[in-house]
Amino acid sequence: MVFSLEYARKLDSQDSLASYREEFYLKEERIYLDGNSLGLLSKRAEKALLELLDSWKTYGIDGWTEGVHPWFYLAEKLGKELAPIVGAGQEEVIATGSTTANLHQLVATFYKPEGSKTKILADELNFPSDIYALQSQLRIKGLDPDEHLVRVASKDGHMLDEKDIIAAMTDEIALIVLPSVLYRSGQILDMKLLTEEAHKRGILIGFDLCHSIGSIPHRLSEWGIDFAFWCNYKHLNGGPGATGGLFVNRRHFGELPGLAGWFSSRKDKQFDMEHVLSAAEDAAAYQMGTPNIFSMAPLAGSLSMFTEIGMERIREKSLKLTGYMLSLIDKELEGRGFAVRNPRDENKRGGHIYLEHEEAARICKALKADGIIPDFRAPKGIRLAPVALYNTFEEVWKTVQILKSIMDEEKYKKFENKRGIVA
Ligand SMILES: *Cc1c(COP(=O)(O)O)cnc(C)c1O
Repeated sequence: MVFSLEYARKLDSQDSLASYREEFYLKEERIYLDGNSLGLLSKRAEKALLELLDSWKTYGIDGWTEGVHPWFYLAEKLGKELAPIVGAGQEEVIATGSTTANLHQLVATFYKPEGSKTKILADELNFPSDIYALQSQLRIKGLDPDEHLVRVASKDGHMLDEKDIIAAMTDEIALIVLPSVLYRSGQILDMKLLTEEAHKRGILIGFDLCHSIGSIPHRLSEWGIDFAFWCNYKHLNGGPGATGGLFVNRRHFGELPGLAGWFSSRKDKQFDMEHVLSAAEDAAAYQMGTPNIFSMAPLAGSLSMFTEIGMERIREKSLKLTGYMLSLIDKELEGRGFAVRNPRDENKRGGHIYLEHEEAARICKALKADGIIPDFRAPKGIRLAPVALYNTFEEVWKTVQILKSIMDEEKYKKFENKRGIVA
């Protein structure tokens, strides 16, 4: 019986990644479904953080070159570990900055308005920080964002149609910045197709991988994508505010960083202290200042799990988890006012489920009261992310049962239908 608890347990017993759950700090009586917003702490990440703290204690300034993870090379070392996760060459990736800071860096580097080719193409469903960054980059260039930032419209308010994006790639577009996976609906955009079409028209294209990295495999180099950027605290479990990452296609190596600093230097030249920058010849050139060592430290542990397992296996389990959750939602929550807003197609579905409900804010509060951690997105979205490394099929089963009881027993009515300050 596919809708029974026994069946969920059977799926767990067949899960080849099940043992990784033991590696994380999970709480009894809590089902954590927010790993796409802030991933959980693993023992490996904790160990790496403590090792780096210890290198400060032990070596003082010599920690730059001594210890288990010499600080001077840590960004490059983590870049090499991130590379296979995004399908890139080792020199094409660097751990640095944050999503927003890296977007600024890459736009400052690759956006070169010329003649009538002056506009940036984005979409109307993107995360606000990305839009603010693009608007401010336009203002720096003396251009009016209302005119020069083109946002592709969504037909249904949840998904984007690649055909509409391609139709918007006019002669006036100089640069395109899009998400790989939409943060609400979880739709995966066809990055390969969009890159081919952009390049046919002489337009550079970059992607925000915040919601795809660590959740789905990528082939950034093979697809010819010009640049990408992301945070490492969602699916990659690097901790709150973890240092982010960026990718620059090797075809652009040598392009001077739009925002330079002494960490943009070639390592061997950096301490010559010259006033002429000898930029690194790879993605390392797009760093600026001294790396935030303790915000990178957890990654030195957590990435090893991704290296060990490989993205294909993570994706396989993730699809099983979300597919299973969808089938339970369809059966158990029918007629209770929920609408599934994520794509059902496996080629289009990212790592989380996105439901809408008029009472979403207080349904999320009721879920929390029952030990389930969802993610509320105003005004009426509920994101549920069963992640491959630490969630189980049994947790998915229980979540849907609890959602059903919250509706049938009207438990959500005990709460106010308003969002909290962080939601
Ligand atoms: C999480 C997220 C961000 C966050 O940016 P930070 O600079 O890390 O605060 C930006 N864009 C998208 C699409 C995100 O999902």
